[in-house]
Amino acid sequence: MAEEKTQAELLREKLFMNKKHTADFVDDAEMKKAMDFAEGYKKFLNDNKTEREVAKFVVAEAEKNGFVPFDNMKKYNAGDKVYYLNRKKAVILAVIGKKPVAEGTRIAAAHIDSPRLDLKPNPLYEQNEIALFKTHYYGGIKKYQWTAMPLSLHGVVVLRDGTEVEVSIGEKEGEPQFVVSDLLPHLAAEQSKRTLGEGIKGEELNIIVGSFPFKDDKGSELVKLNILNILNEKYGMIEEDFLTAELEAVPAARVNDIGFDRSLIGGYGHDDRVCAYPELMAILELDDVPEYTAVAVLTDKEETGSDGNTGLESVYLKNFIADLARADGLKGRDVLSKSKCLSADVNAAFDPTFSSPFEPKNSSYINRGIVVTKYTGARGKGGTSDASAEYVGEVTRIFNKANVNWQMGELGAVDAGGGGTVAKYIANLDVDVIDVGVPVLSMHAPYELIAKLDVYMANKAFKAFFEAE
Ligand code: MN
Ligand code: MN
Repeated sequence: MAEEKTQAELLREKLFMNKKHTADFVDDAEMKKAMDFAEGYKKFLNDNKTEREVAKFVVAEAEKNGFVPFDNMKKYNAGDKVYYLNRKKAVILAVIGKKPVAEGTRIAAAHIDSPRLDLKPNPLYEQNEIALFKTHYYGGIKKYQWTAMPLSLHGVVVLRDGTEVEVSIGEKEGEPQFVVSDLLPHLAAEQSKRTLGEGIKGEELNIIVGSFPFKDDKGSELVKLNILNILNEKYGMIEEDFLTAELEAVPAARVNDIGFDRSLIGGYGHDDRVCAYPELMAILELDDVPEYTAVAVLTDKEETGSDGNTGLESVYLKNFIADLARADGLKGRDVLSKSKCLSADVNAAFDPTFSSPFEPKNSSYINRGIVVTKYTGARGKGGTSDASAEYVGEVTRIFNKANVNWQMGELGAVDAGGGGTVAKYIANLDVDVIDVGVPVLSMHAPYELIAKLDVYMANKAFKAFFEAE
């Protein structure tokens, strides 16, 4: 005979918050779905490491799914699918909804750039018979993490005659890779006295790219000459063409399952492709025509503050919405003020090894579902969009209705640091916006960790948001 519950037990069940590990939230069939979704994500992560590569992938997938290039003078009908590619680095996808845009749109916005080492405009030099590239890091990195591990090189070179050459080297089996050296511990007595932040300095992030001299010849800089000769044969480029190139060094490591139980995925650039991928899949796989026009933004330049014409401080999203509005005889502001947005970006998962900058009651945890972040910012909520209680309520009701496991999390303890997302730029357009995303361990490290169940829940959450009535 089952023991009767005490009054305290009953009250506890009724009154206490009861957030769960997602493994206790889903049934076996959904667990299997989540693990399958993770496999697709892993492939995406391996194949698309830079904003240009992701944007290209997005366009290809969009076209496969019936999306056509957006014509800003055209009036679209419910069910029409369009995409707008911004300078090969950012993409907006939209599925026109049943309701007129006068009633607003449903926007989700993730970013597809990640921290990395960009080559300087004039990168190649030779020192002590070693050829190296000078770099300028992109986004917030702990510089010491980027030495002594394999890098690959991605990007584009515009040759003197205007030809664009795409570069991707160091990803495929058998291709050479590149590396930043570090000092051996035996001789690091002086270096070890530096602070962690200064352990490796920006001008020490020099990538080794070769060491053979050009054969049977005299003169200086023969190793550099040999590298230029290889680049000329492979890409048709000369040294001056580096000035008109965008080359990005990223970790060459392949994505892997982490843990005996394979519950986690280790890889480069989960921030923010772990939100971009489930958001993209959500809009591509919308089963029915949504009530509201669904807009998926995959933006660039978040990691450097969203400035520039491919970042969300520019007007490209505002203009896109204004174009949709004009077709209905409206102004952009008429649509924006009624629109709602999920700013899709990662949050810092509570790390048991480095727990001090976290406040456990208000942190996000891996495996506990998509994290809703009411506000980001620093100090006294400086530099943030703080979502209203009404909007938090609206979004989380959508999640609850669709059986999305979600949690609430701040970015660290008060005064521990801080950060921001694109939420404030979209909020500035007079749109209701809140941050949601996947919790990440070792964020901005060359090899970040996320939980498979969380990327799956993110997909479910974006789908529920786009499909909501
Ligand atoms: Mn991010
Ligand atoms: Mn970031």
